[in-house]
Amino acid sequence: MDDATRFDIAVIGQGPAGMTSALYAARAGLSTAVFERMGPGGQMTDTEHLDNYPGFAEGVSAFDLAFAMSAQAARFGVVAITDEVTSVDFQAPLKVIRTASGGVYTARAVILAMGAEPRPLGVPGESELAGRGVSYCATCDGGFFRGKEVAVVGGGNTAVGDALYLSRICSRVHLIHRRDAFRADAVYTRALEGLSNVELHFDTVVEAVRSEGGVVSAIDVKNTLTDEKGVVDAAALFVAVGTVPKNALVRDAGIDLDQAGYVVADETGATNVPGVFVAGDLRTKPLRQVSTAVGDGANAAHAAFEYISLS
Ligand code: NAP
Repeated sequence: MDDATRFDIAVIGQGPAGMTSALYAARAGLSTAVFERMGPGGQMTDTEHLDNYPGFAEGVSAFDLAFAMSAQAARFGVVAITDEVTSVDFQAPLKVIRTASGGVYTARAVILAMGAEPRPLGVPGESELAGRGVSYCATCDGGFFRGKEVAVVGGGNTAVGDALYLSRICSRVHLIHRRDAFRADAVYTRALEGLSNVELHFDTVVEAVRSEGGVVSAIDVKNTLTDEKGVVDAAALFVAVGTVPKNALVRDAGIDLDQAGYVVADETGATNVPGVFVAGDLRTKPLRQVSTAVGDGANAAHAAFEYISLS
């Protein structure tokens, strides 16, 4: 073990919660590593533009914000390790983290910030056609369907936000929601009003995704009130039916999870395992936003600092 593999704090995940945890830990004088498979940003970069992150009167590009957070953390000495964490061992006071490329790291405290990922719809055709018309990220993949007819399923902020985004680049957008009212905030639903190329399908469920020539060609739907079946022509289906916690790493690590699989923690981010903290979408909480992830990160780093100082 050397200084390159031994840290005071290991943060797993480089979304806004992870980057804020790392920033606060490094500023508290702790040697800090942040592990991430890809680049910085996490789920935040599935959105094109953030309009509700405080401090930006005109909103901010999610990519710009992610890279600014990463650069800020780096300025205070945070070591970003681009590698997939494959296992953790929290048995001993010194926590052990192993990565896909064979790295073995230790840390006195760990902050879990792996976030959440899109929930699959679970209908026939979905998994087979993922990447061939079925997408979980409109801002990533929408451009492939420029000028085409597409569908979005879901009724939350993500689904309505996706429909708004796609309405600017696609010829027609079908927004399919299982109930008769959106869960999304009024600021999103109001923006839908008056958009002539967005067709709303309320009380409608997706039954299957059809393909032709190996790519999505249409969506089988059913009206839940009348049981009437229908077919929606679409070259893509954007699935936006919520998220599930990315807890695979800690399922067998002695960490308490709630029924939905989120990591149980108190207000400071402390889990049931001493020295292990959680921040962001992965933790139990009422509101999952970039702004709440950032607050969680600051709290978790502070709690981890106190834990290390007192142990
Ligand atoms: P969400 O708020 O959990 O909404 C999921 C939607 O998918 C709901 O409308 C739900 O229907 C529907 N749904 C769930 N399972 C389904 C199924 N099997 N079949 C059909 N429909 C299904 O998820 P989200 O929109 O991804 O948002 C996740 C979190 O991120 C939320 O806290 C949200 O506020 C936040 N977010 C915030 C912003 C922003 O503030 N700018 C943007 C995006 C996301 P029901 O309504 O019937 O339950």
